[in-house]
Amino acid sequence: MPRVPVIGGNWKMNLTRSEAGALLGVLRASLDGLDGVEVVLFPAAPWLTDAHDALEGSTLRTGAQNVYWEPKGAFTGEVAPPMLRGVVEYALVGHSERRGTFGETVWETTKKMRAVIEAGLTPLLAVGERIEDARAGRTGEVLRRQVNEALRGFASLPAGLVIAYEPVWAIGTGEAATPQDAQQRCQFIRTVISERYGDAAGQVTRVQYGGSVNPENIRGFMEQPDVDGALVGGASLDAQAFTAICRAAAG
Ligand code: PEP
Repeated sequence: MPRVPVIGGNWKMNLTRSEAGALLGVLRASLDGLDGVEVVLFPAAPWLTDAHDALEGSTLRTGAQNVYWEPKGAFTGEVAPPMLRGVVEYALVGHSERRGTFGETVWETTKKMRAVIEAGLTPLLAVGERIEDARAGRTGEVLRRQVNEALRGFASLPAGLVIAYEPVWAIGTGEAATPQDAQQRCQFIRTVISERYGDAAGQVTRVQYGGSVNPENIRGFMEQPDVDGALVGGASLDAQAFTAICRAAAG
């Protein structure tokens, strides 16, 4: 069965409440019902319920940019996955800004994966090498470790898992990977899933590319057989650009 591509819009720590509301309205109008692609918006945490309400009854999905791994308790400022049930369907785990800027360890990423799945949310796991890893020829090793560690303890493929291949050096820099490199890395990630859970699991897992995707370069990525969509940061804040990316991904 062909994999339906996923386009994720990671708004990061941007947009006031009214700006977020306006963008949600425009995106619903331009993207609701678009066939051949799944669109998931990741607004900042305070606007998740607004997003849920604004998108209810549409084909657009919502996701959280981050979660904590404990289900409740004295963890000031954190958000637990069970709190997000009924509000979002997806949760982003392991984004490079969490790993890099906030020092999130591989073990913490694993705990977040478990918590997300236990809460019945769908994980969107982000993995990717830093520039120094790429220069040292360690990309494959890094990707294998990040995928395997995040899935540690899972006897079978978590339902609906999406993986975003995001080279850290391409995020927010305007320097995207080439479509050919993205294809090679996404195919490699699929192989890691197949080795772990069997070929069928590898074939159903959607693997996106992320890193400076825009309306001009999205087609090159979508032409690759193992690239199942994109995780989009900067361009997801621009309604026209994001709509163009989603339409291109829909084919
Ligand atoms: C991201 O935040 O995951 C991302 C890919 O950002 P950008 O599209 O801005 O590079």
